[in-house]
Amino acid sequence: MLSHIIIIIAICLIYYHIGGLATTNILRLTSGNTRLINSSKCTCDSCGKKIPALLQLPIISFLVCKGRCRSCGAKIPIYPLIIELTVWFGMSLITALFKFDWVGVLFSYLFYETVRIITVVVRGKRETRFAYCYFVAVASMIPYVLCSLFASALYQVV
Ligand SMILES: [Zn+2]
Repeated sequence: MLSHIIIIIAICLIYYHIGGLATTNILRLTSGNTRLINSSKCTCDSCGKKIPALLQLPIISFLVCKGRCRSCGAKIPIYPLIIELTVWFGMSLITALFKFDWVGVLFSYLFYETVRIITVVVRGKRETRFAYCYFVAVASMIPYVLCSLFASALYQVV
């Protein structure tokens, strides 16, 4: 029982990290973005100041900074937070509905891809190097898929 709970927490943490990643992995594919998808630079859009790693996670950043940049006070848009929460809750819920087996894990990634495609369609695709960035964004999910599948397999045997 305890090992099951630990695995569930691990899967939810993987999904939480994907939620945080989604803010670059999805939003950089949308119109107005020029930064490459795999650029690790994460800066404030207004003052250009670097955002510390912990504050790159939208939920934490919103709780700590109340939706404003810590250096210049510029308002940070709400949609990264909405995307993060949608991804996190959606993927966790789908996997839980399938009792943490591998089918549920694959469906949760299908859900993620759906969120990505809907976001790109609604906000418009980026003007430059869209195909390259989309490929990198999809490929960057492979380690996460493998980790979650491994956790799910572990869940079935313990
Ligand atoms: Zn700023």
